[in-house]
Amino acid sequence: MFQLIRFISFLSIISLILLCSSCKDEKVPKKYWPRYAHEAYYYKLIETGLNTTALGRDWVMMADSVMKMPVKIELPYEEVLFIDPTEAFAEAYLFEAQQGQEIEVKIEYEGPDSIEIFIDLFRSQNEIGVTPLKVASAGKDDRRLEFMARKKAFYLLRLQPELLRGGKCRVVIRSLASMEFPVEGYGKNAIQSFFGDPRDGGKREHHGVDIFAPRHTAVIAPIDGTVSSVGENRLGGHVVWMYNAKLRMHIYFAHLETQDVEERKTIKAGTKIGTVGNSGNARTTSPHLHFGIYPTGGVADPYYFLVNTDTTTTKPVNSTKLLGNWVQPTIQIEEENSPVPVKLLATVGDKYRVMFMNGRKDMISAQAFSVILKSQFADLRKDIPGSFQDSSISE
Ligand SMILES: [Zn+2]
Repeated sequence: MFQLIRFISFLSIISLILLCSSCKDEKVPKKYWPRYAHEAYYYKLIETGLNTTALGRDWVMMADSVMKMPVKIELPYEEVLFIDPTEAFAEAYLFEAQQGQEIEVKIEYEGPDSIEIFIDLFRSQNEIGVTPLKVASAGKDDRRLEFMARKKAFYLLRLQPELLRGGKCRVVIRSLASMEFPVEGYGKNAIQSFFGDPRDGGKREHHGVDIFAPRHTAVIAPIDGTVSSVGENRLGGHVVWMYNAKLRMHIYFAHLETQDVEERKTIKAGTKIGTVGNSGNARTTSPHLHFGIYPTGGVADPYYFLVNTDTTTTKPVNSTKLLGNWVQPTIQIEEENSPVPVKLLATVGDKYRVMFMNGRKDMISAQAFSVILKSQFADLRKDIPGSFQDSSISE
């Protein structure tokens, strides 16, 4: 679906270029404007001719090249990032998310300007040379993005601001449970049998999680949807099925004591479905809810849909004053032959995230620096690729 949208956007860009070049006064009707903020801005660059300036070209190139050199992080993650207004800036972060986790991105701008920051999320394709697939974009002027990971994969988050604006911003990326816990008043510790556990002496695998709670504890819908079936079967006893059309997921509740919903009813997350029991093949065990998730054409481990892993970020503690400057570490840094200057990009925990002159990025302890200001590195400019070259939009 997203590929189709991208293809359509690509076609629109081509037709826009043709339109602009064929008759200069023609305005493109609003309904044909690009759908994503990042692409819309690219249009604006084309419309104003800025895409042919050095800075405009750098911006377009950076959008692509930054994805090939992402910062590898683990969630939850927080940093204070400096956006340099004098260059075409972008940053990309690579992290893993589990199927069912909600990836949450929040950007807090702390600078003086009003600034547009484009937030786009891609799924890495795990194959060399295959372009990452865009899966979500924040709306125009939105500083927040939420997306449920449909599969366990590496995801790439790209931040790119408009040109000539800058300042500090706080970037927070977390992965959260995407659904409410289906047994009211209980949580992670009540899950005592997991997805994939052997059943029937190893003949089959457990296609869900078992959540233990006293008989008659309320079972609730973890997400909005429609009740597709209320019935009874040999293994599950009293069961309820519901369906979420947006996610195309069927949800299964089994071993219920009571069933408290009607078929075909539309229900909201939090609606009582029934109560915990031990009907079906659970009659010899203590009462528990068997909970299963079936995305169309498969089955999923419900664990990360329901359980928050550690979501508390480590706050950056270092001064942000020198972000954006080239500084001289006082100690030799791993992988480098001698102390070399680095650019301070962001503060993370008790470290600085830095870039070396060859473009490599890494995290370095704050104690490793004695500061030399950017101006003293003016003579280094010619050796620093890309971002540090003088750019001008007046050419
Ligand atoms: Zn079970």
